[in-house]
Amino acid sequence: MKKSLVASVIGAALLGSTAVLAAGVTDAMIEKDASTGNDVLSSGLGTEGQRYSPLKQINAGNVSKLTPAWSMSFGGEKQRGQESQPLVYNGKMFVTASYSRIFAVDVKTGTKLWKYEHRLPDGIMPCCDVVNRGAALYDNLVIFSTLDAQLVALNQDTGEVVWKEKIDDYQAGYSNTAAPLIAKGLLLTGTSGGEFGVVGRVEARDPRTGQLVWVRPTVEGHMGYKYDKAGNKTENGISGTTNKSWPGDLWKTGGASTWLGGTFDNKTGLAYFGTGNPAPWNSHIRPGDNLFSCATVAIDVATGQIKWHYQNTPNDGWDFDGVNEFVTFDGPNGKRLGGKADRNGFFYVLDAENGKLENAFPFVKKVTWASGVDLKTGRPNFVPENRPGDPSKGADGKKGNVVFAAPSFLGGKNQMPMAYSPKTNYFYVPANEWGMDIWNEPITYKKGAAYLGAGFTIKPLNEDYIGAMRAMDPKTGKIVWENKNPAPLWGGVLATGGDLVFYGTPEGYLKAVDSKTGKDLWKFQTGSGVVAPPITWQDGDTQYVAVVSGWGGAVPLWGGEVAKKVNFLEQGGSVWVFKLTK
Ligand code: CA
Ligand code: CA
Repeated sequence: MKKSLVASVIGAALLGSTAVLAAGVTDAMIEKDASTGNDVLSSGLGTEGQRYSPLKQINAGNVSKLTPAWSMSFGGEKQRGQESQPLVYNGKMFVTASYSRIFAVDVKTGTKLWKYEHRLPDGIMPCCDVVNRGAALYDNLVIFSTLDAQLVALNQDTGEVVWKEKIDDYQAGYSNTAAPLIAKGLLLTGTSGGEFGVVGRVEARDPRTGQLVWVRPTVEGHMGYKYDKAGNKTENGISGTTNKSWPGDLWKTGGASTWLGGTFDNKTGLAYFGTGNPAPWNSHIRPGDNLFSCATVAIDVATGQIKWHYQNTPNDGWDFDGVNEFVTFDGPNGKRLGGKADRNGFFYVLDAENGKLENAFPFVKKVTWASGVDLKTGRPNFVPENRPGDPSKGADGKKGNVVFAAPSFLGGKNQMPMAYSPKTNYFYVPANEWGMDIWNEPITYKKGAAYLGAGFTIKPLNEDYIGAMRAMDPKTGKIVWENKNPAPLWGGVLATGGDLVFYGTPEGYLKAVDSKTGKDLWKFQTGSGVVAPPITWQDGDTQYVAVVSGWGGAVPLWGGEVAKKVNFLEQGGSVWVFKLTK
């Protein structure tokens, strides 16, 4: 690999080529990814996750002339949910697809350069479809995670595997779907599997070799470790006190999986990872806060220590995974803040340095489990009668009281990432309005089996819509505008300096709306449902927009009565690229 790079450098010099040879993706390039419009180097268009591009060639005045430049099919019989955000660098697009596939595509023509299909074993256990949400770039590598809980690093030019590492045992329910994060020269990843009683954690590796640098579990009681150059564990302090917030041995299989990956803010030096539900779902057998489940943990990247945590749903009883992205932004008086639209229906604004709660307000119309969030204590005001009942107190000891809860466990927002525009100072939140009947049942842990202790049926709340794209003002907590959508929104959002907000719908449209008013300005039918976040970049004098299309994800699998409403949608698997017609 090194040899071929040297050879091509010499070759270019001998030929007197004027082509710019890429030196590889550096930490400095990743740190300023958000402001460089000619590439997309990270998930979130910048590790802060704002999903904002300053580009404005395509703008509110001319977006009606946006037309396809090319489209490429992921092919094969493997379709299902396509939740991937592409990356663009050095004339190539890197895009992952369902079933742990990744493609490199000529970004100008749409010609496939190479593809890698990870060999998946029988018996993988992804809870919520065979999705992948994207890759990371570092040096001349493109790195992504797989459904059997591995990390694979490939040569950007050839698609050859440079290194491969196992994160954990897929037979115990571990899997991986998130895009890895690069921060301060380290590759940071989480893990999926909260429905199987795995132990959530954040891992840091050397992106060039895959070697572990530190591991920080997100269930209180588990040890974190640093690793020396020889790969030996060294103690890195305990993660809280055993049995302080978990009864008995439940912490050993406590969930809190970090399945949506993380964000990183160079101004604070902290990586922010959201944590999923405590396991099992039945909350009555684990009284206590069950740290660090359903929370944001802020990790000092240099040491692997949790610097602060903020728990959105202590002692969760509704599967309100707190995995949602913590997006940092500049607040008043030079304060660095972070925003998070949680599955539990509340939008939180925290001080990104210390985790202090600055503001919390609902971003959905119906929330039953809490009447609000106490801004002094930072804790939710629970509505006790709206917690699913204790099965041991039920009539037959096998089923607790059924309650109707909103949001549903699929959340006021789920995996689809929001955007923040420093131009409008609004967050653009893809929200869903739905509820569920939920009840608890007795449950014991068994390796590789679902570990819920709950049953549920998801129901729409309104006749005419479930999804709602909302512009939220983080200062006032007000919805500035909203665009309703019949199907639940499941793709992400892109905001641009051209006063535009782009987002996709399960009905198959990629849409552009006015960032200040939400007015519909453009839409294009991609041929299958869009459940992935759009990107934009400029190549030479042309700005492009891209999005992956392919209906699937958790809704058709778990959506109950909602799934019946969207079962007419067709599967697919392709990436679309657009530019303005002259
Ligand atoms: Ca960039
Ligand atoms: Ca969960």
